[in-house]
Amino acid sequence: MSPYSPLAESVPTQERILVIYTGGTIGMQQHADGLAPGGDFTIRMATALNQLPLAQQQSLPPYEVISYTTLIDSSAATPLTWQQIARDINDQLTAYAGFVIIHGTDTLSWTAASLAYQLQGLDRPVVVTGSMRPLESPGSDALDNLQGALQFAAKPMLQEVAIYFAGQLLRGSRAIKQHSEAANAFASPNYPLLGERVGDDFIYYLSRGLGLQQRGAPRFELPDYRLVNQGEIVRIALWPGITAWQLEAWLSDSRVKGALLQLWGAGNLPNAANLLDVLARASGEGKLLAAISLCPQGSVHLGAYAAGHGLSDAGVLAGDDMTPEAAFTKLAHLLAQPLTLEDQRQRFLTSLVGER
Ligand code: ASP
Repeated sequence: MSPYSPLAESVPTQERILVIYTGGTIGMQQHADGLAPGGDFTIRMATALNQLPLAQQQSLPPYEVISYTTLIDSSAATPLTWQQIARDINDQLTAYAGFVIIHGTDTLSWTAASLAYQLQGLDRPVVVTGSMRPLESPGSDALDNLQGALQFAAKPMLQEVAIYFAGQLLRGSRAIKQHSEAANAFASPNYPLLGERVGDDFIYYLSRGLGLQQRGAPRFELPDYRLVNQGEIVRIALWPGITAWQLEAWLSDSRVKGALLQLWGAGNLPNAANLLDVLARASGEGKLLAAISLCPQGSVHLGAYAAGHGLSDAGVLAGDDMTPEAAFTKLAHLLAQPLTLEDQRQRFLTSLVGER
């Protein structure tokens, strides 16, 4: 079986979609110690798509599949995984009309957010998808997700990294995994859908996309993510009773260069001077600190309550309504580049790819 869809061999690659299979439940098969990524994805994907009604099969764009040599459960993904996918897309960019990335769902929204920062100014679709159940399992959501991802990857006006899942197209830098079992596993809590499946149609809402704002050639930033692959960034979610020594245990470590804080509601933390002292000390040492809310919906407004008042003075950057994925991968992306602290801070506060 060739890695091409039936039509693909007769059209130039520039009209094909490149499907990159990285692993995840969608391609998993039962092994002795449980589900693990399985091979032969090209033929398995073609077999699944062959089950679609003929008219839907015929409306699929021609595609070609490559599989990573090491297939992973996405719980094992690291910043180096994000880097590898971005570089592979960059290497093949002009050879294909669009890209579909097949990925495990556990960290799919992290990869999508990271790709968005690395592929700034993207001039064609990159659609990330996966499924909650393996391709061959009865009632699997895999076929719908593959079909929708291919359909949206063939829309030239979609010019950003998006996630297609359960009939919905979400901005990659706005998505979270919201359900551990349901097919409708992803949400975009603070930004409307970029598109959706309506019957047999796949509708892209052009006015919500980045495509209209893209100017000139892609301006990809592909820094060396090895610089942020050894625990340089931490994520600290508050809990009632958090103490200064606990915060300090993370932030005083010289290996830590940045931290994402997840605060209460609109951006509050306990009204305790010693907590703010720890934060001020860390920012004074040049660490990049950012805050978002523990609530999936809404935004932080640092200083709206007395309980969060000292945060800006302590140098903490407001992450507004960003998802944890978007805020964390943005810190990683900025810290992987040789920018001054001021530039890093300024770029964090700017919307780079519609993430805030
Ligand atoms: N553990 C799997 C993964 O993220 C879950 C999935 O794909 O749904 O690779």
